[in-house]
Amino acid sequence: MMDTLTKSRIQILPPEEARKIAAGEVVNRPAALVREFIDNALDAGSTLIELVIDEGGIRRTEVIDNGGGMTREDLELCWYTHATSKIRSLEDLNTAETLGFRGEALAAAAAVARLEILTSTGGREAWQLEVGPGNTTPPRITQTRRAKGTNVRALGLFDTIPARKRFLKREGSEANLCRQAFIDKALAFYGISFRFIQDGKLKLFLPAVNSRKERFAQALLTGTEGLFLYEITLGGTGFSVAVVAGGPELYRNDRRQQYVFANGRRIQDFSLLQALEYGLQGWFPNGTHPIGGIYVSIDPALADFNIHPAKQEARFVDAGAIHHAVTQGLRDFSRHRNMAGTEKFSDGENKLWDGFAEGKETVYQDQEGKNEAAGSSQAAALALEALLENPRSFAPLPGRNPREGDPEPPLFAGESTPPYGDLGVDGGSAPRLAGRVFDLFLLVEWKDRLFIIDQHAAHERLLFNRFMAEAIPKQELLVPLSFTTESEEDDRFLSHRREDLAKLGIIITEGEEGLWYIEALPANWRLGDAETVKEILKLKTAGEDMAERWAATLSCHGAIKDGDYLDDTTALALAKAALKFPEPRCPHGRPIWTELSREELFRAVRRL
Ligand code: ADP
Ligand code: MG
Repeated sequence: MMDTLTKSRIQILPPEEARKIAAGEVVNRPAALVREFIDNALDAGSTLIELVIDEGGIRRTEVIDNGGGMTREDLELCWYTHATSKIRSLEDLNTAETLGFRGEALAAAAAVARLEILTSTGGREAWQLEVGPGNTTPPRITQTRRAKGTNVRALGLFDTIPARKRFLKREGSEANLCRQAFIDKALAFYGISFRFIQDGKLKLFLPAVNSRKERFAQALLTGTEGLFLYEITLGGTGFSVAVVAGGPELYRNDRRQQYVFANGRRIQDFSLLQALEYGLQGWFPNGTHPIGGIYVSIDPALADFNIHPAKQEARFVDAGAIHHAVTQGLRDFSRHRNMAGTEKFSDGENKLWDGFAEGKETVYQDQEGKNEAAGSSQAAALALEALLENPRSFAPLPGRNPREGDPEPPLFAGESTPPYGDLGVDGGSAPRLAGRVFDLFLLVEWKDRLFIIDQHAAHERLLFNRFMAEAIPKQELLVPLSFTTESEEDDRFLSHRREDLAKLGIIITEGEEGLWYIEALPANWRLGDAETVKEILKLKTAGEDMAERWAATLSCHGAIKDGDYLDDTTALALAKAALKFPEPRCPHGRPIWTELSREELFRAVRRL
């Protein structure tokens, strides 16, 4: 008793003991080494990352990369506590794009295991560091051989700290956790190749792919399951979210295949997992759960990743906005899928324009809580807007012209006088979107008639009219596209019609003999170089009709395709615009819609 009063009970731990304890928080099991080492490899700009574990990672956890490597000087410092090349002060966290920033992973690894690093920045020199566990042996640096990149290996985890080793699970379980940590990183970085080798056997090989959706399928699904995955992009202020979601074909009875990532780190975020479930509610059988990933990219200033020792949680300045964007975007999307059954969006083989023509990827934009299937579908939105705001640029209906002195017809029928001719029925009702069928047609009920409108043709016509009526917006190329003509005829065409081409948004300049440069193209142009040149040279045969031909080319590539989904507002606006066309044909001459009267339908079922 006396003793405790006179003698202080508080003791400052010797630095070495303190470090072991702190290190245990960062590195509590092999999977933590996996995560930290892979993060470092990613930060080093690697394109190929290999994870090797032996005996659940306890005996060995090694990550091999082909990134930038370290110089001898950096190698000497890298394993010290708070040694980092990534930030210089706390403020830097507001802009840090790297996965690491605390400079404690290698230090922790060296405190609790034997740490060996082989590294080279390319060229002749390569160095090897051996240090730890703890201060059992002095650090040693020797020369070695290695191509550019780094191996980081931790050997004998917790061999000198039995109290911690006791808390490790069986080897098999630790191996599974390592595999999961590996998959978490691979899911977030689909453009990088990953290999996983366990006890000498290659278990997973994930070559780089082009989308999160592909990586998700590659890493987690089997057979053709990937066909039922969708990728959706959502946006908001200071953040964007990609969602990969499986359709109901891939439902699960638990939530194990649900992932949330923020700036490349998997995080635990219950509310965003909820958003995935809410957003897809109604599309899935009761009691089942979707699979999917939510990938948040956020301005580092709007998030705090420094609240969890292993960075497994993040705090967002405006978590509500992200939650809302995900729920709303998915709701919109699944409502559509629900109606359309399981058919896929069209492949959108024409990548000329952003947005709808892109096919599988649907883009929603969050605007003050109001979601619209807008996003990069600017072509569509702008076209509709142009039509809505500028009806005069569209000639009156042929054969149904208002008489001299009649007031200008309003844009939409039903609002007062229907511009679509006299149907012999009472005016006053506005067109109503009755539905969609066959992934192509919009059904519109209007004044005792059913209009079945081909959405592609309607949109194509709308765009065509605009391209004919207004200057085609152009965009300068960062790097001019150079090409060589094959005939003098081509040269003649290009030089004679250069000014006409400029009016079409195509700016070309002449180089040496037969060499030409395309300096600008219509905004949102998406075709590859060869196709672009081909499309331009095709105009050779157009003569006087060049503008029309070009408008047809642009509108065909720019129009939504069958299978593309328009939200109700846009669909109705498009339908109304289509019903107002003076010439209800697409630029190729096909009719845009067909119609049935109430009477015809009644007669068909012998009701009259
Ligand atoms: P942090 O990642 O927070 O900076 P670490 O302890 O994980 O801290 O790494 C310390 C430093 O070592 C890094 O900042 C980086 O400069 C260097 N480093 C670690 N791993 C690698 C690697 N695989 N390739 C190149 N440099 C590395
Ligand atoms: Mg690190």
